[in-house]
Formats: sequence, structure tokens, C-alpha cells
Amino acid sequence: MEKEKLIEEVTKNIKSCKKCRLFQSATNPVPGEGNINSKMMFIGEAPGHFEDISGRPFVGRAGKLLEKLLSEIGYKRGDVWIGNIVKHRPPENRDPLPDEIAACKPYLDFQIKAIQPILIVTLGRFAMSYFFPDGKISQDRGRLINAGGHMIYPIYHPAAALRSYSVEQDLRDDFKKIPEILKRAEEIIQRGDFLQEPSPSDNDGQLRLGL
Ligand code: URA
Repeated sequence: MEKEKLIEEVTKNIKSCKKCRLFQSATNPVPGEGNINSKMMFIGEAPGHFEDISGRPFVGRAGKLLEKLLSEIGYKRGDVWIGNIVKHRPPENRDPLPDEIAACKPYLDFQIKAIQPILIVTLGRFAMSYFFPDGKISQDRGRLINAGGHMIYPIYHPAAALRSYSVEQDLRDDFKKIPEILKRAEEIIQRGDFLQEPSPSDNDGQLRLGL
């Protein structure tokens, strides 16, 4: 099945999802958006107030900073794919609970398999732990890591950078390295040193959302 169809299908499933309590308090689901042919996916934690209202990821202050940092390395937000671990806003922006993350996991896993990015840029501690539970953001940020069948690049969350000047500096430094990190990730894949998970469409064209 084509990528577009796979993403359409998973988006439809997210929009009607009632697998955890979060849909009850949320206004809109936020499935994620962007270029499904991008080599990079940027993954945050969960929608906040403005994302909940609009149904789009990273449209608040943190999103504006993300867009600015992307533009400083030559990308527009529409050039990459942007999404979250959890697709509905947790009430009062509390941290997502383990059962909510687990309930949402098949969606992000499926989106990744369909898009097949070279590099997953994780924004903040939660997104890093999703792929690399033993990681520590202050130690592991700014490094290319092979985690759970994906190449991830953990960096600080833009919202944290809005609260601390030194975090902002670190985030900016890590962002500047993205083009080089992407090149390295591509070289690793080309050398055959890293096996990407097969796309869900590789299996006789059947959609395997596993929901
Ligand atoms: N913070 C996130 O982690 N995700 C969003 O979409 C917005 C803010």
C-alpha cells in the first residue's frame, strides 16, 4: 500500500481513538503532520493548549521556536514530519501516564514504519525515553544513537529552551549539528550497518496497524 494511504488510515484511527482516557478531556486529536517523504521525523511529547485547539502539532510558542531553529538550518516546517508520542492533550499539560503512552504506541510505531525516516529527532526527555529508556537527556543529547531499530538524535525540548537560556544555547548547538548527523545516519544505512524495520506495506500490501 502507498505511504499516503497508510498515513491516511492511521490518521483516521487516531481521530476516532478512545483507547485511553485522554480523548475525553481533549478538544481535538493531534495526529502529526508534514512531509511523509522526509528523511527526518521530529517527535515531541504531547499536544499542549494551542495544539489541542487546532489539531496540529507544535503551533504554540515551543512550535515557533522549533520553526525558527529549523529555518536556521535551511528547513521549513513542511519539509519534515512533526508529531508526538501521545496524540491527545493530557489535562493541564500534565505528563502523559505510562498506560496512555502504551495505548498510543501503535500509532507512532505505525507512522514511523510508513514514513521510514533515516533519522528521528526526539524533543525532550519523554520522546527520548520512548526509544531509549536508559538514556539521560543531559548526557545523551546531541549524539546519534541506535535505539530500538531506529537512529535517534535526542535534543532538548524547545519548551525547556524557552525557560532556560543555557538550554536554549545547547538546543541551538544540537540543531546546528543536524545536517551532519543526518549525513552520518545516511552513510550508516548505505554501508548496511543498520537494518531499518520493514515498512507495513512490505508485507503483501496489507495494512498491519495492529490496533
Ligand atoms: N509540546 C509537545 O511536546 N508537542 C507539541 O505538539 C507541542 C508542545
